Amino acid sequence: MTHNTGTLYIISAPSGAGKSSLVKALTDAIPEIRVSVSHTTRAMRPGEVDGVNYHFVTREEFVKMGEHGDFLERAEVFGNFYGTSQSRLQQTLDEGHDLILEIDWQGAEQVRKLMPQARSIFILPPSLQALHQRLTNRGQDSDEIIDGRMREAVSEMSHYVEYDYLIINDDFAHALDDLKAIFRANQLQQKRQQVRFGKLLAELLG
Ligand code: 5GP
Repeated sequence: MTHNTGTLYIISAPSGAGKSSLVKALTDAIPEIRVSVSHTTRAMRPGEVDGVNYHFVTREEFVKMGEHGDFLERAEVFGNFYGTSQSRLQQTLDEGHDLILEIDWQGAEQVRKLMPQARSIFILPPSLQALHQRLTNRGQDSDEIIDGRMREAVSEMSHYVEYDYLIINDDFAHALDDLKAIFRANQLQQKRQQVRFGKLLAELLG
């Protein structure tokens, strides 16, 4: 084997579990890991950048992309469309980069069928109170919206059993360590190390 192919990771969590912050800290620590930028029809939040957090598109553009078969997976979440574009995904993996899809359980289900080699990780909050607190701290949302998000969160969390790994985000540094451990262990697989250390192995074994 001379080619080192990256691993596709699916990471899901209820909103407020700290998924985006953990993924950001992970990629800061291990820059070879790539994160797929999804397409969405939802409105941009303050501080978000088009092409960085998401590719923000209209519903018409999204539907057109779907008709062209541009999406690996797609789902409707909170009344907005979200989808993972196929275009650079395989290329990124072929270049040897691990690639993260931050998607919901519906998208995860579709990706598992198409790419059974994908590894999936679910992140849970330490308690319902902590989740409620994090959703409240986000900003100006009304109680009604927060209650709706809590119900969505419980429904999303019920899918944790479909995932390979489970992380509880109680202490951020600990959860980040757990996440890093999953990626590190995978990178240390003999087949991947064989490619990475081909020269050393040749020297050692003559
Ligand atoms: P938010 O709008 O808060 O960024 O994301 C809302 C939900 O949509 C989260 O659960 C997130 O994981 C999910 N999501 C984001 N991008 C995608 C995507 O490309 N596909 C799917 N299926 N879900 C996504």
